Amino acid sequence: MNGNYFGTQIQEGTGRNDRSKDDMSSGKKKIIVVGGGAAGMMAAYAASADGHQVTLLERNEKLGKKVYITGKGRCNVTNAGDTTEFFDSVISNPKFLYSSIYGYDAYAVMDFFEQNGCPLKVERGNRVFPVSDHSSDIIRCLEKVLIKNHV
Ligand SMILES: Cc1cc2nc3c(=O)[nH]c(=O)nc-3n(C[C@H](O)[C@H](O)[C@H](O)COP(=O)(O)OP(=O)(O)OC[C@H]3O[C@@H](n4cnc5c(N)ncnc54)[C@H](O)[C@@H]3O)c2cc1C
Repeated sequence: MNGNYFGTQIQEGTGRNDRSKDDMSSGKKKIIVVGGGAAGMMAAYAASADGHQVTLLERNEKLGKKVYITGKGRCNVTNAGDTTEFFDSVISNPKFLYSSIYGYDAYAVMDFFEQNGCPLKVERGNRVFPVSDHSSDIIRCLEKVLIKNHV
């Protein structure tokens, strides 16, 4: 694979047959997440929080480049409105989102950032932004938890 990688490099011998006995018995896996955008960073965090050994690969020189420009540089993190109302706003096939939204809803997202040192505020239309108004603080928060979890 080309490009710069955040975190550790791909290690040799990460294939299924190379897992150590410890890995096999604990159920913990070596996981590679490709792409350090919003989705990849959260996926890497979630897997590492479950105790897996995660490597996150990003071809850009920085994580979360797109997140940086979101919400005109402020990052509209989520919407603090009622979950049922959220589904009313989804034009087609809201059922597709049920398991992901009910599994990790907007309040879980807000708790995640606030508990990891990024205070949030709710504005008009229940839009949620970092108190600082800087999307870079959202990225920094994600980077911090990834480093803490040895991603
Ligand atoms: C102008 C603008 C404003 C927006 N504002 C908001 C907002 O306020 N709130 C909001 O929730 N959403 C907003 N969005 C949408 C939001 O940015 C995207 O939904 C989100 O960034 C998507 O994240 P992602 O991780 O799926 O994809 P991406 O952010 O595109 O991340 C994919 C990552 O994978 C990397 N990658 C791809 N291929 C490889 C490879 N082969 N090897 C290594 N790395 C690879 C890319 O470099 C990239 O970093 C906005 C979007 C735009 C364009």
